[in-house]
Amino acid sequence: MNRQAKTPTEADPGLGSLDQFAAGKLAELEARHLRRSLVESTREDGIYLIRNGRRLISFSCNDYLNLTQHPAIKKAAIAAIAKHGVGSGASRLVTGNHPLYAELEAKLARLKDTEACCVFGSGYLANTGIIPALIGRADLVLIDELAHACLWAGAQLAKGRIASFRHNDLGDAERLLKQHRAHHRHALIATDGVFSMDGDLAPLAELSALARSYDAWLLSDDAHGIGVVGDGRGSSFAGGSNAEVPLQMGTLSKAIGGYGGYLCASAAVIDLVRNRARTLIYSTGLPPATVAAAIAAIDLIEREPAYAALPLEKAKAFTRLAGLPEAQSPIVPVLIGESQAALSASRLLEAEGFLAVAIRPPTVPAGTARLRLTFSAAHPDAEIARLAELIRSRIFKR
Ligand SMILES: *Cc1c(COP(=O)(O)O)cnc(C)c1O
Repeated sequence: MNRQAKTPTEADPGLGSLDQFAAGKLAELEARHLRRSLVESTREDGIYLIRNGRRLISFSCNDYLNLTQHPAIKKAAIAAIAKHGVGSGASRLVTGNHPLYAELEAKLARLKDTEACCVFGSGYLANTGIIPALIGRADLVLIDELAHACLWAGAQLAKGRIASFRHNDLGDAERLLKQHRAHHRHALIATDGVFSMDGDLAPLAELSALARSYDAWLLSDDAHGIGVVGDGRGSSFAGGSNAEVPLQMGTLSKAIGGYGGYLCASAAVIDLVRNRARTLIYSTGLPPATVAAAIAAIDLIEREPAYAALPLEKAKAFTRLAGLPEAQSPIVPVLIGESQAALSASRLLEAEGFLAVAIRPPTVPAGTARLRLTFSAAHPDAEIARLAELIRSRIFKR
């Protein structure tokens, strides 16, 4: 190994200040049951995977439609490699804008009913690029307190005032608009469309009306909505409605099964974002295979809306059997409370052959550690029933 070996002396006990810092921080996390580690996971197909030598059925992947393993999508990716190579070679604004991008962006814009679309390297890169491209120091960002970490990161990079409203609380959002809107040039309201750790939906139609009446711009992050709610079109189309959301962001890494992020918006906004979003301009374009896979995935979702509806149907069957509030999306939180208890609940299910990863602070607020279950089209009904029964009897002891 190419480490700089140091001879321990009295003045330097062998651990430099950097390693001492790291070890101290890790010990602190360990003591609070918040230390995380990477576990090698070999995914076999849509739902089964091997971890620590055991085959488990996963209720923790975001691969809602099992498209990461779909034969037609793999084939599209392989064909793109054969034709265009493995990498894109540069930023999209230089020479990385291979021809598959235009096809994917047209499809996404059509799916979301917007004039245009811009594809980013990932969902995280999208949010950290979009918000600073639109919002500056003189502006205001209103953000749901449970919004995804990358919406928060984007808001912080934008350097305007950030005010967070209580989760899905329109009254609180309006109170903040009344208090702050007049002191700022522009305002943006940022929320998840489907909340990633709770699975509930944002009241997008109402937020959209509120945004319009205060001249604020609504940005919804549909990472967990595209492909699985609103006939596969996402959370702004849920329940047959079409909420007017001028900034519809999402990811290609969950139901779409690959990687990448996007923003669907008006032609003018997309043109501006392409000119100003630093995470687009200063980062390499996606590999052609990734873009081709997303095109094939969206084709499949548009062709098979009944298939796209399955994850939510399965989640609803589970909540019925487990005696939990009805699922609104394929994400179902099983709230436990303390981190240590959530870890033991996860271990108990693992012993029974289920993977249900414990989610702890700071991903979720203190005291709300949970098992976050995700349902996919391929989960067998019998396994869903067995999981519900285990949670009911062994975790909730009901
Ligand atoms: C996963 C997720 C993202 C990040 O998307 P990536 O493409 O994985 O970077 C953004 N927002 C939400 C709500 C997410 O759940």
